[in-house]
Amino acid sequence: MASIRAEKLVKRYGAVKAVHGIDFEIADGEFVAILGPSGCGKSSTMRMIAGLEPISEGAIYFDGKRINDVRARDRNVAMSFESYALYPTISIYENIAFPLRAAGMDNAEIDRRVRDIAGKMELTALLSQKPQGLSSGQAQRVGLARALVRKPAVFLLDEPISHLDTRQRYRMRRFIKSLHQEFNYTMIYVTHDQEEALALADRVMVMSDGEIQQMATPDEVYARPRNAFVAGFVGEPPINFVDCYVENGTGGWTVSFEGQRLALPERLSKAAERIGGEGLAAIRPHFLSLGDTSPLTLQGKVFVTEELQDQNLIFVDVGGTRFTLVAHPTVTPRRCETVTVSIDPEHLLLFPRSEARKFEDLAA
Ligand code: ADP
Ligand code: MG
Repeated sequence: MASIRAEKLVKRYGAVKAVHGIDFEIADGEFVAILGPSGCGKSSTMRMIAGLEPISEGAIYFDGKRINDVRARDRNVAMSFESYALYPTISIYENIAFPLRAAGMDNAEIDRRVRDIAGKMELTALLSQKPQGLSSGQAQRVGLARALVRKPAVFLLDEPISHLDTRQRYRMRRFIKSLHQEFNYTMIYVTHDQEEALALADRVMVMSDGEIQQMATPDEVYARPRNAFVAGFVGEPPINFVDCYVENGTGGWTVSFEGQRLALPERLSKAAERIGGEGLAAIRPHFLSLGDTSPLTLQGKVFVTEELQDQNLIFVDVGGTRFTLVAHPTVTPRRCETVTVSIDPEHLLLFPRSEARKFEDLAA
């Protein structure tokens, strides 16, 4: 197991700059998810850690030791990709044993390790079979077992389950989390799926455009996103954004949007000071409700309701903004009904208006 540190890490492919000089630290035994949209530099970052791509600038350290010039096979890193390739002509047992045989380990130790990992991955009954006929979930587990049998210092997974169907994905997700809890590997898990990242990781590194937008616990990126990009990328259904105006009146800072004005809670006074003027307010669909239950209410008209049995999604037009609300399944307003929307001010977030562009790119 190893800790990892990156310093001003840059990846260039000719004229394309994929990673823009990022710094991060991952503790020994930590599970970090790298989360971001396609093309933001997740795989490039991971491949530099694995040694599969040269580092253009900056440095990576394992346990304080610079590894820029250490070859991939000498880094003791295991990597699992979406496209795991098993050897079709040899048994599952030999597939898992393969990296150990390549390393010249003796047969007794190979047997002990293969049977141990096969047991943990629920593969014991399949050891004598050939890969043909395995389900995609089973093949995935064999691929993971083969990666883990070497006892790597760092375990890297790049979108390992995005090709599986929903049920298999949930199953593998639990499996991967239990592997981490059992072995305490330092794990880095690349995904574009925010729910997966939040469900699995100790900390999430949110990236866009080759830069780290925030690196924090799942609770923090959800409740205290550092910018509008993180706020918009994390959370389902997506957070509501509305143009607002922030000003300092006699009674302190206020925010106004869609014709309403609200005194800002103390928590937001620093953000208000920074923004002072045109801003972007954000509120998650779970913190909006129908009815007059808060100091900040808006009048709107129901656009449509999606009834999802365990919850209802209600879309309400207020002026020029369409808000999404998550409500109890018994809340079923009619289309075009005029409703009052209450905003829980404790969960209101404020960002500079200049960050709106990034969010629009995301929605496009
Ligand atoms: P992600 O894994 O987040 O989807 P990547 O790290 O694969 O992103 O890619 C980041 C950027 O670098 C993208 O613009 C991509 O097109 C570019 N890129 C990735 N690999 C190469 C390559 N081998 N040659 C040229 N450009 C690349
Ligand atoms: Mg990728």
